Amino acid sequence: MDNKHKNKAFLIKLIPKVISIGLLVLILYVIIAASIYMILQIESGFYIKRSTNLALYTTKLSTNLNKLIMQSSFIIKYSRLNDQKRLKATLDTAKSLIISTNADFKNVKHYIKDTRIGSKTILPYINKSYFNYVNLIRPIMLRLIKYHKLIAKKIFFMPIELALYKESPIFSPFAIKAIEKTINREKILRFYFDIVYLIGSLLIFISILFFIIYSNKKNEEIKRLYTRFNLIFDNIYDLAYVTEFTYDAVPKHFIEVNDMALKTLGYSKDEFLKLNHLSIINANKEDILKMMRLLFKNESMTYPAEIKTKDGRIIPFEVTSRIYKIKGESPIGVCIARDVTERIKMEEELKRLSVEDSLTGAYNRNKYKEIIGKEIKKAKRYRYPLSAVMFDIDFFKEINDRYGHITGDDVLKDLASLIMKNIREEDYFIRWGGEEFLIITPYTSIESARMLVEKLRSQVESHNFVENIKITSSFGVTMLRKEDNEVFFIKRADDALYRAKSNGRNRCVILD
Ligand code: GH3
Ligand code: MG
Ligand code: MG
Repeated sequence: MDNKHKNKAFLIKLIPKVISIGLLVLILYVIIAASIYMILQIESGFYIKRSTNLALYTTKLSTNLNKLIMQSSFIIKYSRLNDQKRLKATLDTAKSLIISTNADFKNVKHYIKDTRIGSKTILPYINKSYFNYVNLIRPIMLRLIKYHKLIAKKIFFMPIELALYKESPIFSPFAIKAIEKTINREKILRFYFDIVYLIGSLLIFISILFFIIYSNKKNEEIKRLYTRFNLIFDNIYDLAYVTEFTYDAVPKHFIEVNDMALKTLGYSKDEFLKLNHLSIINANKEDILKMMRLLFKNESMTYPAEIKTKDGRIIPFEVTSRIYKIKGESPIGVCIARDVTERIKMEEELKRLSVEDSLTGAYNRNKYKEIIGKEIKKAKRYRYPLSAVMFDIDFFKEINDRYGHITGDDVLKDLASLIMKNIREEDYFIRWGGEEFLIITPYTSIESARMLVEKLRSQVESHNFVENIKITSSFGVTMLRKEDNEVFFIKRADDALYRAKSNGRNRCVILD
């Protein structure tokens, strides 16, 4: 069988499986990754919102601090130049500013606690001089903002830097810290995302690898089974072939064939696989299709079929077919054909032996029983004459006595062949018993029968049998009557023979 072809078909069948498993793993991975990403993102979103608020708040605070410091320095400057009253008023203003700043301060502390940023890291900034941190942190801040734009684009929450720009051109340490945290958070998010991505890719890779190894193993197993199956298939003594069918039982081309079939029918495998039942069975198309429909109905059947060989010989087979209906595929018929040439010959031989007399080759009484009723019926129905001739050798006992039984047998054989030469094919020549014979001759009137018998009588009389033995025979002839049955008909022929004997032998008596 065609290994390459089968393997290719197998691999083609595998493709949708690989794709579907790959897709399934991918979908699972996407769901898991997306869920993790969403969780992280939502959390991060909350965080950014909070830090944005914090940034806004702290910038506001820093503006106030800014004002306070500016005013304080102005007051200090001014106080050196002006009177004590003005100084006092200015200090009052400064005080009230400090009070309001302290209020903000409290809020900030509260906010810091709330956002869980940690007071330890942020609070020291608040106590430092505004100018210090502006100078120190501004470049870092700008860098962070640049970085932050990326985050802001990715995560859909309010862009922090815009808020910062809007509220204040100066950035508070809280804002910076918040943004730093956000960036860290984003880094962590990216890190998680990378891990999820890596795990997902690894998962797909492993599953594909596993599948390839598994299918390879399975492929090998199938190959081994296929080889074994081939060995069996090709060593069957019978012809085996497989064919595809349409759903309405019309045979398509063959898809498998064993060596025995190719050898017996004389085709090459390629040639045979282009044929179908209609081209190899010796019957008309309608009969074959009818048989196939019946086979489809029964699913399994044994039937006789004549199959044509490539060189035009016709071989009788007994075919056992079985139909397999596989969901989604064309129905398949597996046929095992056994050459029955020898069997038919043997059956014919047996049949012949069962109706033939082994000594003379004439029919025996079995054949007589088989045909007599039918012939009488036919003759009556179609109104043609049917005659019977009963004859017996005269004084045959003497031949036996004189020449012995074996010679007697040879005479009988000789006589039978002489008679058979002188009758038609449609006549039945039957050994009635001993040396007594019966001829049933259809389409023969009593006149024709008389002529036939006269011919036979004179031929026997003039014939030189073995050892130059001369014999004569007596004949009784009759024709079928309307009211006859087989008993009366044959009895009359027998009576006629009896009369021929008593009238002096070597003669013919007709009982009409
Ligand atoms: P007739 O018919 O003229 O009255 O005399 P017959 O001597 O022929 O008498 P009958 O027909 O009664 O005898 C038949 C003899 O044929 C008896 C038997 O020895 C012989 N016979 C019958 N069958 C066979 C046979 O198969 N082989 C041989 N050699 N002889 C047979
Ligand atoms: Mg006799
Ligand atoms: Mg006799």
